[in-house]
Parts: sequence; C-alpha cells; structure tokens
Amino acid sequence: MIMSCAIAIDGPAGAGKSTIARILAKELEFIYVDTGALYRAIGYHVLGLGLETADTEGVIDALQDLTVAIDYVEGEQHVFVNGKDVSGSIRTPEVSMAASAVSAIPEVRAFLLDVQRGMAATRSVVMDGRDIGTTILPDARIKIFLTASPEARARRRHKELLEKGTAVTYDEVLADMVKRDYDDTHRAASPLRRAADAVLVDTSEDTLEQAVARMKAIVLERL
Ligand code: C5P
Repeated sequence: MIMSCAIAIDGPAGAGKSTIARILAKELEFIYVDTGALYRAIGYHVLGLGLETADTEGVIDALQDLTVAIDYVEGEQHVFVNGKDVSGSIRTPEVSMAASAVSAIPEVRAFLLDVQRGMAATRSVVMDGRDIGTTILPDARIKIFLTASPEARARRRHKELLEKGTAVTYDEVLADMVKRDYDDTHRAASPLRRAADAVLVDTSEDTLEQAVARMKAIVLERL
C-alpha cells in the first residue's frame, strides 16, 4: 500500500503560502490544496445571495443546500459551488473579507472539515490554510508556519492585485490584511496559530526564490 503524506503550511495572509506550496507540490508530485479557496467560495456565495456575513443564522441556513468542492483542471485547483466553477471570482478584496468573516462561524468550519480531510485521505498533499497543522491534519508529516511582516505581506499582495487590474491602494491592502489577521487570530473556532510542532519560517527579507529554497530544504530534510 502506498502511504499518503501530508505537508501542512499555515500562516497569515500574503506570507507566500500558496505560491510556495504550489511550487513544492509540483516538485514533489503531491497535490496542492489551497483551503482558503473553500472559505472564499462560501464568502462569495453568501455575498451573491445578498446576505450580510454578520448574519450568522442566514449564513448557516445557506449551507443547507450548498456543495463546495475542489477539482483539478489541467493541474490547477478550481473550486466549485453547487457545480459552478467560481475560481475566477474569489480573489477580490470583498471576497477576502467575506471569507474571513464566514470562517469564524463554527458551522462553516465543520462544513468544510470533511472536504479538506477527504483531499488528504488517499493522496499526498501540500495543504495551505490557517488551521491545517492544528486542526485539519494534526498528524501531518511536516508542518510549517510561514509568516512575514505585515508590510512585506501587504506589499506583495498589493503588487498581485495591481497585476490583476484590481484598483486598490497599498494602504487599503495593509488595513484589510491587518484586520483579517487580527480576526483570524482572535476567533474562537480554530484560530490561526502555530502548531507546537510547526517549523517557523519568516520570509520578510526573502525573495520568492530564497523562500522556496528554504522551504525545500526544510521539507527534504524531514521527508
Ligand atoms: O488563504 P486565503 O487568504 O485565501 O483565505 C481567506 C480567508 O479564509 C482567511 O482570511 C481565513 O479567514 C479563512 N481561512 C481559514 N482557514 C483556512 C484557510 C482560510 O479560516 N484553513
């Protein structure tokens, strides 16, 4: 029997988790799972229904007839809400904030638990998120907590958004990020925190190449 192997990468927004996890997964021939996309898909769906994300009962009701799934199209992760591919619509600042708001609702987290564990049950994965090492895959073979200063993270995210044509200022990105990190760290349900056995990697001073090289060294040493 081939044993599956999980690498959990957690950390705040903009630390480079998804970029680095995707590269690592490709090199290791593991599946890359971006769990933030699942929360974004629910945030997007809730906004589309015209609900306020603060309307907890409304959000919980909306889970009743909802399916959220991940599939791979030409090797790239796509996320589907009730069968519709929403991958192209979930990267806006509005959806980021909505994802963070709905992710604090324990029923939303419970709703997505099986999807995430299911992805790692039979395949080797590099999974990134906020609570992968602490809650979703506590037995992951390797856990990394990837972080960087708020300014470095906001700079990178601002550049990404501008490249996609989203009109947003650096100050707006920084303010959103600081709020999202605060909320993600302070919520009661599976808050963002470093697992006791996670390796801490701070990429504030790193180029992407340097960050990838450091992560690769950590992974290869432990695999
Ligand atoms: O990773 P990304 O920035 O796409 O995640 C969007 C939001 O989804 C985060 O701010 C966080 O609130 C939530 N999230 C979470 N747990 C995860 C992944 C994302 O709560 N495992």
